[in-house]
Amino acid sequence: MTEFLGYRCSLCRAEYPPVEVFYTCPKDGGNLDVVLDIDQIRQRFEPADITSRTEPSIWRYLPLLPVRNPEFEDTPLSAVGWTPVYRPRQLSERLGAKRLWIKDESRNPTASFKDRASALLIARAREIRASTIVTASTGNAGAALAGMAAAAGMRAVIFAPRTAPPAKVAQLLVYGAQVILVDGSYDQAFDLTIQAAREFGWYCRNTGYNPFTAEGKKTAAYEIWEGLILPYLPEREQLTVFVSVGDGNIISGIHKGFKDLQALGWLDKIPRLIGVQAEGSAAVFNAFAAGRDYIEPVHADTIADSISVDLPRDGVRAVRAAVETGGAYLKVSDQQILNAIRDLGSAGIFAEPAGAAAYAGYLEALSTGLVSSEDPVLVLNTGNGLKDVRAAMRSVPEAPVIEPGFDALIRYLDQQKGSLHG
Ligand SMILES: *Cc1c(COP(=O)(O)O)cnc(C)c1O
Ligand SMILES: [Zn+2]
Repeated sequence: MTEFLGYRCSLCRAEYPPVEVFYTCPKDGGNLDVVLDIDQIRQRFEPADITSRTEPSIWRYLPLLPVRNPEFEDTPLSAVGWTPVYRPRQLSERLGAKRLWIKDESRNPTASFKDRASALLIARAREIRASTIVTASTGNAGAALAGMAAAAGMRAVIFAPRTAPPAKVAQLLVYGAQVILVDGSYDQAFDLTIQAAREFGWYCRNTGYNPFTAEGKKTAAYEIWEGLILPYLPEREQLTVFVSVGDGNIISGIHKGFKDLQALGWLDKIPRLIGVQAEGSAAVFNAFAAGRDYIEPVHADTIADSISVDLPRDGVRAVRAAVETGGAYLKVSDQQILNAIRDLGSAGIFAEPAGAAAYAGYLEALSTGLVSSEDPVLVLNTGNGLKDVRAAMRSVPEAPVIEPGFDALIRYLDQQKGSLHG
C-alpha cells in the first residue's frame, strides 16, 4: 500500500489532496512536493525491511514510493536503478583522492538517470488510468519515457528540440513513441507540451512540472544511503555528492530522498549536495551565487545538451538542495566537460557531456579547496556517452589512418616515437 497523503507547495506551503492529475501550485506555480505518511512508514518498517529486499531496482524501495506495486516483473521497467558504484583506482591515485566513488547511471535501461523518473511516472499513469503520456525533453527524458512506456504497452508523445543529438532521437523513434521535433529550444517545447496536455487530456511527465518525477529520482539517494553510507560511512561522516544540473529536478529529487530517510530517523546527516552547471547554462548557479531564492532565465548555450536550459523548471528547490545541505553550485566550461569525458573514459566509464559535467565540477572543487582529497565523495554520471558520439569525438584526438601494410605501421610508430620524444 502507498502512504501518499497529497502535495505541498514548495513556495507557499499550501497543501493539496492526492487527486489524480495535479501539477504545479495553482496559486503561484511553485513545484509541489509529494507528501508521504512518514509516521505510518516508520511504524511499519525498519531499515532492514528495506535493505533485505531482493529487487535489484528502484522497486526495492516501494514502501517509500507514492505508488502501489506496479508489477513490472520481467520487463525493462524492473531493471531501472540499482546502478553500479565504482571506485576508480587510477583516477583516485592521480588526484590523491582517498575516497572517490562514481555511480554510473548510464547503466539504466535507456542509458540515463531519467529512467528513474519515467518508470515511476508509468506506474502512476497506470494507477490513474492515463493512456497517453507526453513529455518535453532535451532527449533523455523522452527516451526514458518512450522506452518505459513501450515496456508497459502505453502510448508516449515526445516533444524534443530539433537540435537533439541523433542517437537520442533514434531512441525515441525505435521505442515507437510519437515524436514531434520542435524547431526551437527545449523551453519552447516545454511550453507547447503543457498546452497540448491540457487540450488533449494527456498525462504530462514534464520535468519540474509533474511532482512524481522527483519521487522517482529520489531513489538514487536511497541507493547511496544503502550502498555507501550505511556500510562505509557509519561514523556520521558527511558524504559530498556531485550532481549535474539543468532543470534542477535530479538534485531536488536526491535531496528529497535524503530528507525522507532523515525524517524516518534512518539517516543522521544528509550529504552535502553540490550542483554542477555548464558555464553557458548556469541559471541555478547564478541564483545560488547571488543568494536569490528565485530564478532568472539565461540564453543557454553549451555542448552538454541535457543540461542546456534557459529557465530551470525546478530551480528554487535545486538552490535549496545546496543551501540546506551546506553544499554549493559550480559552473564548468565546455572544455572542462570534454576533458572530464576523456578522464572518465580512461577509467572505463563512458559519459555524455552532461554526465561528465559532475566530474568536471569535482575536479574544479578539488582545485579550489571546496572539497579535499580526504573527503568521501560520490560523483554521479547521469548519462551514457553513446548518446552523443559527436561530443565524445571532440574530447579525444582523432585516430590515425595508415596503409594496410606492416611498413606503414612501422613508419607510423617511428613517427609517433619521434613526436613523443620531440
Ligand atoms: C536531465 C539530465 C541532467 C540534469 O537533470 P535536471 O533534473 O534537468 O537538473 C543531467 N544529466 C543528464 C544526462 C540528463 O539527462
Ligand atoms: Zn504555492
